[in-house]
Amino acid sequence: MASLSVPFSDCVIRGSLLPRRRLSPCPAGVASLPAFLQGRLVLFMFDYVLLHVSALKSHGTKFSHNVSNNHIFASVADVSLEQSLDDVHLPKGEMWSVHKFGGTCMGTSRRIQSVADIVTNDSSERKLVVVSAMSKVTDMMYNLVDKAQSRDDTYMSALDDVYEKHMLTAKDLLDGDELVQFLSQLHHDISNLKAMLRAIYIAGHATESFSDFVVGHGELWSAQMLSSVIKKSGKDCTWMDTRDVLIVNPTGSNQVDPDYIESEKRLEKWFEQNSAGTIIATGFIASTPQNIPTTLKRDGSDFSAAIMGALLRAHQVTIWTDVDGVYSADPRKVSEAVILNSLSYQEAWEMSYFGANVLHPRTIIPVMRYNIPIIIRNVFNLAAPGTMICQRAVNDNAEGHNLESFVRAFATIDNVALVNVEGTGMAGVPGTASAIFSAVKDVGANVIMISQASSEHSVCFAVPDNEVKAVADALKSRFSQALAAGRLSQVEVIPNCSILAAVGQKMASTPGVSATLFDALAKANINVRAIAQGCTEYNITVVLKGEDRIRALRAVHSRFYLSKTTIAVGIIGPGLIGGTLLDNFGIRCNARFLWFILFTGVLKEEFNIDLRVMGIAGSRKMVLSNTLDKMEELQNEKAEEANLEKFSQHVHGNQFIPNTVFIDCTADTGIANHYYDWLRKGIHVITPNKKANSGPLDRYLKLRALQRRSYTHYFYEATVGAGLPIISTLRGLLETGDKILQIEGIFSGTLSYIFNNFAGERSFSAVVAEAKQSGFTEPDPRDDLSGTDVARKVIILARESGLKLELSDIPVENLVPEELRSSASAEEFMIQLPDFDEELSKKRIEAEAAGEVLRYVGVVEVSNARGRVELRRYKKSHPFAQLSGSDNIIAFTTMRYKDQPLIVRGPGAGAQVTAGGIFSDLLRLASYLGAPS
Ligand code: ADP
Ligand code: ASP
Ligand code: MG
Repeated sequence: MASLSVPFSDCVIRGSLLPRRRLSPCPAGVASLPAFLQGRLVLFMFDYVLLHVSALKSHGTKFSHNVSNNHIFASVADVSLEQSLDDVHLPKGEMWSVHKFGGTCMGTSRRIQSVADIVTNDSSERKLVVVSAMSKVTDMMYNLVDKAQSRDDTYMSALDDVYEKHMLTAKDLLDGDELVQFLSQLHHDISNLKAMLRAIYIAGHATESFSDFVVGHGELWSAQMLSSVIKKSGKDCTWMDTRDVLIVNPTGSNQVDPDYIESEKRLEKWFEQNSAGTIIATGFIASTPQNIPTTLKRDGSDFSAAIMGALLRAHQVTIWTDVDGVYSADPRKVSEAVILNSLSYQEAWEMSYFGANVLHPRTIIPVMRYNIPIIIRNVFNLAAPGTMICQRAVNDNAEGHNLESFVRAFATIDNVALVNVEGTGMAGVPGTASAIFSAVKDVGANVIMISQASSEHSVCFAVPDNEVKAVADALKSRFSQALAAGRLSQVEVIPNCSILAAVGQKMASTPGVSATLFDALAKANINVRAIAQGCTEYNITVVLKGEDRIRALRAVHSRFYLSKTTIAVGIIGPGLIGGTLLDNFGIRCNARFLWFILFTGVLKEEFNIDLRVMGIAGSRKMVLSNTLDKMEELQNEKAEEANLEKFSQHVHGNQFIPNTVFIDCTADTGIANHYYDWLRKGIHVITPNKKANSGPLDRYLKLRALQRRSYTHYFYEATVGAGLPIISTLRGLLETGDKILQIEGIFSGTLSYIFNNFAGERSFSAVVAEAKQSGFTEPDPRDDLSGTDVARKVIILARESGLKLELSDIPVENLVPEELRSSASAEEFMIQLPDFDEELSKKRIEAEAAGEVLRYVGVVEVSNARGRVELRRYKKSHPFAQLSGSDNIIAFTTMRYKDQPLIVRGPGAGAQVTAGGIFSDLLRLASYLGAPS
């Protein structure tokens, strides 16, 4: 008798963590669990023991356990598979190569021919090839049974379809005697099935064995066809009906346990009567010890291959499918998933348990018993080496202890519901868990994971969605008294959930892994409903809202695999829209360059950021798309009436992209009013629009407070000085403990240009006219000369520095002469402006006489909690006096930079540099979201 022990803290029931506190030191936990769960625990422990202690030599059906000292002692009776197999004359060992071809590989006659080629090209001395039914056939067979038992007459024509599919495939592949023989067998089987389905139809019910008998025919036919094709090429080949060999015991939970001893005896017998170098064996089907046909349940052919591999001690089992190997996540859900070269048995097991259907969960145990590697390969891409599943995954030996080496892959189980049983009367009451799970057992539901709050006030577990109603009803009835007495407060059902599992070596015990996982989920604004961590140390499992599952998968995958950070982008505002559409929208282009940046691929190639522009809205029209990544495509999209609600639903509502950012390129207060709502929904906002930050103080404070307490980001670098690093410099100073005394600057490119050129004999109006002509001013230059824009920048910087000021608190020197403020048009204003040149000329001459120049500046006096916008005089040696063109210049006087202010200078207006500011915000956002920076 062999016995093994594993620490209690490692005990798991199908992925669930038994609450450590409850179990320790003398656990009510296991002992108080109902028999069926103890059974499951034992089963799991058995798997667990096998997974962890490959030195275990014996393996049998009799199994006992006991619990003491924090350990479960698992002992197995002395029926040794190894010993038993050694006694018989089954040819076994390294000479055997086992293959399994999934339904995907057997879909058409051409594919079956390719499979035959792969088999014949394997030069192993002996080959056993397990095949699935042709693709979709098992579904068709289950459908026949469903139709017959619901007395739907169309089962007959559905059976004809099955016949025709196989008949046509056989005619394509075979000829002569082989074809005649196969068609006669097919005909015979179909007649039997007809009779059986008729019986089911009359009874209105199919027993499990009837159903198993019917559905297993797909494998019978595919194995015979493949065998005939190989024989046709002159190779020595025979087929095996595994119902004659594989003996299994049903466990009652839609699972079966192989009886290795009996199977091995039957295999021996089979070999006495058959011999061939290549054997094509049916996957999926088996018999009970009473010789009643049964199956290994859905997708069970992988398991069949593993059992055959173990019985034969094959040197490897190759599982052929339609993907290049095991990916780091389901490639249908995460397009950036990568192929894993190797996985440990434990990792593969966890992956398959948590929903990676590339491998049936029970495939691992039989092969790891003999250290037989499994290779997953792609039948359609023979050049790909595939994924090797073996004792030690390659990166297990790697020196790197980075997080990625601990997290290998992710998987999800969809359509689950959480049941939360809660109440103060549960704490410290032994047997509550037992009562809960015995009620669950009575309805035959499958508990996928369990988590119990350490306060013991609640037990929460996940079951398949379609079983939750029965579970909840059973619990309510079982606990009706406790509910009435208030000892239990509720039996809550949270439907439509998904389970996300991260799988990898020792990840649960490695600091930082779960933090990173949860951080990635939080940053994608995904709420975690329940957690089970610990288990075998190979997985962390979280339960989320079903609709979040793909976003969650992609968010965590991109974090750990450093794959591209994908962000859905919604652009609001005219400037970004290409020529043609622009005209349709009737809006002005002021930042085409941003468009250029977004789509040059720079972000993708160099920064690992994958931006998907999902929508562009102007004031009247908008374009929504799922595929926009080229400007030309956008132009082909149809514009529709602008509707911000629909826009945000479209861009943010998609399930596939974990992050959303809206870029507001308008100068509109109405759009800025939406920021709060967007941030609340988890939409990041980037903008050069000054309206939100310079609007009413209380609204601004609310916005910033929301942003601080959430993971959602609001970036507005381009509101001041366009692309110049002004906000970020200010933040950097504050965050590093500096104290801002004053910020003074020339914040308007237009006014910078005007005063830089207002010298010598030129009149003020002439310089303004020149600026207007060169495109440096707004269409109406009064918008620049009024100073309001500068005041908005001053208020933004003032608030950023901690001052609580309103725009109306900033005195502004308006350069538009009072008399011209109400001129009807810009043209009129320009005509009248020369009449008012004198005042400014005077000021300029006075300044020049004192060796000074005039500059229009904004000032934040932090120490006095004041801001102002005015015309000031500066010595010719002052940096502000030496400005040229339309540059901005900003001087930060701080405790650290007191004598010599910190100066930022450069072009501070225009489409290109504004785009630059937005670009840097996008990079910052992506880096906060986890892209490498
Ligand atoms: P077969 O019929 O060959 O048994 P399956 O459909 O059962 O094929 O399994 C292969 C499929 O598993 C792939 O086509 C793939 O879509 C899916 N799959 C899910 N998760 C993963 C993963 N992590 N790696 C690879 N494939 C996966
Ligand atoms: N044909 C069976 C099924 O589709 C078994 C398998 O292919 O693995 O479930
Ligand atoms: Mg499969």
